[in-house]
Amino acid sequence: MPAHVVGPRAVGECRDVATSTGDRSVREHGLLIGGEFAAAAETFDRCDPAHPQRLTGRFAAAAGTDVARAYAAAAEAADGWARTSAVQRGEVLRRAADLLEGRTEEAARRLTADMGKAIRDARAEAGRAVAILRYHAADALQPSGATYPSAEPDTLLMTISEPVGVVCAITPWNFPLAIPAWKLAPALACGNAVVWKPAAAASGSALLLAEVLAEAELPPGVLNVVTGSGAALSEPLTSDPSLAALTFTGSVEVGNGVQSAAVARGAKVQLELGGKNPAVVLADADLERAAESVAAGAMLATGQRCTATSRVYVQSAAYERFVSLLVERVEALRVGDPYDESTDVGPLAFAERLQAVRGYLEIAHEGGAAILAGGTAGDPADGYYVAPTVLAEVPADSPLLREEIFGPVVVVAPVPDLDAGIEAANDTPFGLSASLFSSNLDGALSFARRIASGQVHINRETAGAEPHVPFGGMKGSSNLQREQGKAARRFFTNSKTVYVRPR
Ligand code: NAD
Repeated sequence: MPAHVVGPRAVGECRDVATSTGDRSVREHGLLIGGEFAAAAETFDRCDPAHPQRLTGRFAAAAGTDVARAYAAAAEAADGWARTSAVQRGEVLRRAADLLEGRTEEAARRLTADMGKAIRDARAEAGRAVAILRYHAADALQPSGATYPSAEPDTLLMTISEPVGVVCAITPWNFPLAIPAWKLAPALACGNAVVWKPAAAASGSALLLAEVLAEAELPPGVLNVVTGSGAALSEPLTSDPSLAALTFTGSVEVGNGVQSAAVARGAKVQLELGGKNPAVVLADADLERAAESVAAGAMLATGQRCTATSRVYVQSAAYERFVSLLVERVEALRVGDPYDESTDVGPLAFAERLQAVRGYLEIAHEGGAAILAGGTAGDPADGYYVAPTVLAEVPADSPLLREEIFGPVVVVAPVPDLDAGIEAANDTPFGLSASLFSSNLDGALSFARRIASGQVHINRETAGAEPHVPFGGMKGSSNLQREQGKAARRFFTNSKTVYVRPR
């Protein structure tokens, strides 16, 4: 069991047994297998990251046998779903989008209770999940093959695409609705059946999305949800004989392990992993806007975005001015209760995240970094809060500049020019997202060409992705199988080439 999955005995640790939404009773959630929500032999509890004494829900901890049942249900449902028309599949997604939109407030509160995202951002994420469902509802009707001229007369030569079959989706906790939506919606639209393992810390949001899809009349068994510990379920998730494709978003280590196991079974695999995203700020940039964007990119969602800005290389001529603007913006952010409408930055998602980020702050203090803002973490009993932190004078080989911190911490450093900025930005095993702030078009195009990053932003923060364009990283941030937009359809289908000659 990973450290952040709280076992059954932790019930007593959530002293005030009330849910964060105000109910006095704790809601118990089952697994979704073959269209039925059912209990498992074991359960685990989750507590509110802003109010760790409050229990937010009790969830079924799936066993290996539950995963096998989920795969059996998916395998049984897959053929029937593949034979439905694309129009019908699109309609299910469209209804799900409408139902989720109608439950936006509930979804946002569930998401905040799961992992502490500020309520305004949680609402925006619910809206994004709705938009993703709508995009794939419409995309279901787009052309999915091609015709070619044949070398033989009278021969119709074409490609058609078919669903891959049974898909396993393994998702992280940091975007509890949006990331599952961008995996499930295209997988379902293309006619696949799915076994979904959400992160334990996102279980409440996951089950809401599953309820919405069930209510939208997704046939039983087409989507199955197994909540619980990823480590404990790794083998059954990656080794089932019916597994045809596995889509994973999460950490590098887990992703690479999952990929090896699934590829060994002959499954195709899509991985989206971590980031250590740089921004380069040149002296000709609008420094006020650059500081605003870097503060938002680094700190919103409490820095828990794979695309969060983590390193900022600033041209020396603008360094002092930019850093003072950045510190001003960061210190203006309101940190606090994520249910409060005015909060910008909520707590980290769970106690182990606080411990990990606290470890990086200790490295900063002990390594002699200049702490320009923040640098402190709160008492876990009061919620898992870290003050938004700006660091400078950090050695290039420090873990602060090499490892993904996944918290509200950003490091700034001066560079002489664009070339040095690109070199520093590329000096990382990751390659997910990168930004350049400059008013020079030649420099911007040169940056877009030379930066080793799957997402490139000019005069925009590193975070943010639209659902109709491909998303993914380079180097250690992905296995280069893109998600979203048309790329999603390519992953969730197999192409078949058909030659037709009349008699
Ligand atoms: P994680 O790797 O710990 O967990 C991700 C998922 O894998 C969870 O559902 C978890 O239960 C499951 N899991 C854990 N161990 C497993 C195992 N041995 N076998 C099978 N499944 C297992 O990651 P996390 O902490 O949930 O998420 C944070 C990470 O995700 C960060 O590194 C972040 O950068 C990354 N992320 C990447 C993207 C992207 O698109 N590139 C987006 C969001 C998050």
